[in-house]
Amino acid sequence: MSVPSGEIGHDAAPAQGEILGAVVVGAGFGGLYALHRLRALGLSVVGIEAAPDVGGTWYWNRYPGVRCDVPSLLYSYTWSPELRAGWRWSERYAAQAEILRYIGHAADRFGLRPLIRFETRVVGAIYDDNAEVWTVSTNRGDCFRARFCIMATGCLSIPNTPDIPGLSDFAGTILHTAQWPHEPVDFAGKRVGVVGTGSSGIQAIPLIAETARHLTVFQRTPNFSLPSRNRPLTEQDHEQFEAGFEAYLESLQHSDFGRVPPTAETAPIPPRDVQWQRYEALWQEGGGAILYAFPNILTHHGVNDVACDFVRGKIREAVHDPQTADDLCPTDHPLGVKRICVDSGYFETFNRPNVTLVNLRREPLERFTPTGAQTSERAFELDMLVFATGFDAVTGALLAMDIRGRGGRALKEAWSDGPRTYLGLGVAGFPNLFTITGPGSPSVIGNVIHNCEHHVDWLVACIEHMRRDDLQTVEPEAAAQDQWMDHVADVASRTLYPEANSWYLGVNIPGKPKVFMPYVGAGYRHTCSQIAADGYTGFRFEEGTTKSHWPGVQRDAGQAPGPAPGGS
Ligand code: NAP
Repeated sequence: MSVPSGEIGHDAAPAQGEILGAVVVGAGFGGLYALHRLRALGLSVVGIEAAPDVGGTWYWNRYPGVRCDVPSLLYSYTWSPELRAGWRWSERYAAQAEILRYIGHAADRFGLRPLIRFETRVVGAIYDDNAEVWTVSTNRGDCFRARFCIMATGCLSIPNTPDIPGLSDFAGTILHTAQWPHEPVDFAGKRVGVVGTGSSGIQAIPLIAETARHLTVFQRTPNFSLPSRNRPLTEQDHEQFEAGFEAYLESLQHSDFGRVPPTAETAPIPPRDVQWQRYEALWQEGGGAILYAFPNILTHHGVNDVACDFVRGKIREAVHDPQTADDLCPTDHPLGVKRICVDSGYFETFNRPNVTLVNLRREPLERFTPTGAQTSERAFELDMLVFATGFDAVTGALLAMDIRGRGGRALKEAWSDGPRTYLGLGVAGFPNLFTITGPGSPSVIGNVIHNCEHHVDWLVACIEHMRRDDLQTVEPEAAAQDQWMDHVADVASRTLYPEANSWYLGVNIPGKPKVFMPYVGAGYRHTCSQIAADGYTGFRFEEGTTKSHWPGVQRDAGQAPGPAPGGS
């Protein structure tokens, strides 16, 4: 039985024991595209999303100043000419509200909302070895049975609030940038404390400072940040982008945007003055392009050190008080090996009389009190606390669910020493489970939307291949996975990335294994294509025992089945 209207609202009548083609967990950029493609393939699909609407991380992150640090013309789906023609970005770097409208527009344009069960959190996904299906259970007590389980849970979706003594005693308002309220937050007349100076803090701080009575910024590690030079897009910008779009699309197949190019190890080290001129030009242009100024900027101190000096010089020019400027200068990690920040007036904010920088390296934060914060040196009276303390990134959302593969083996156990995948797409022992932008893939490096699209296209082609050959299951071979993970680690070790305590390595979360999670090597798309073209080398397919012959694929495209009854 299916839901006749095609609606998957909370009150939808459940279908009895139906095996779906796929369950897609998460309705951000990756999940929505997966729903679209899998439905077009003829699979019955259901999306499950914790938020009340589409958008993923862009739904939750609504703090003042939040915008994307990838140019909006590029931070867009590439797969639909109609979608492109029907949307016009207003600014060089889009603000969150516009990005959310764009995602909503895409969901409506392709009729994806009816496929999604909103305000529902997946708590478990268990593979049934005998039936060869996944049972996906939710916090609402229902469960869905499906042949494929697509985890589009995002890399930055589980907020991290550090366990600092006394937090529960604090009597004022506590906010987290990644769980921002929908109602406007009024800082006027308030003494506000911000903890954290990563991308989120660096975007929020200038805006909070504009209205707060006083803003105290608690900084543990200063970050490199580059000016966005955001501006409205012009007619000419749009025309230029459209004229170059086909070439851009083609370039995506070969480009390693954001990753370490093959020439990194052999490239010469440019003279300091040549580097300086290039950095100056890119600084004036705005955005994060300094990261790609030279092929070896992320592999060689001879280049990276100059880039660091350059940005530190800019910080000292911007900040009037020499001690504050000094405290804002990053010295403990190379540029770009923590995610580079892009800002609008961040450093200048510290010239305001209502802003105080607290260097937690000099005076550690000891505890919160009912009325504020106490460092080793001073007490701060605060009315509001804003945590801009980031995420349990890349693996956090996957490990928050009870995922069990063959023989009931838990993903938490399989990943107890750090995540292990093949290509970041699948996990040995977890058949028919795909991880969109999973660890071991470029994931957060480069343009995440394009990384999502690439993974969805790849897994859809794989499912088509299985349908053609009537194959029941696919999963990575353990040996191929081991080899891939060794390669991921080897590539990272030949860069400067491991020299920072970053969330790329998981070190921001106490107890999380220290493993460099994204793949930063070149030619990832080519590798994935080649593996598919060679008959999916490193993946093991099985004809299966149930001969269920593609449950869900006979359903008319667009018709949405409901959940099966039952508890989690
Ligand atoms: P983040 O980069 O992980 O930064 C967290 C900040 O909180 C760091 O400054 C960290 O200091 C600090 N912190 C954590 N625990 C602390 C503690 N116990 N005491 C004091 N300080 C503590 O998180 P984020 O800023 O939310 O950014 C995460 C990622 O989201 C970014 O890297 C980016 O990929 C994405 N993002 C993108 C945009 C954009 O497109 N513009 C905007 C926001 C976020 P330490 O460095 O010392 O750990």
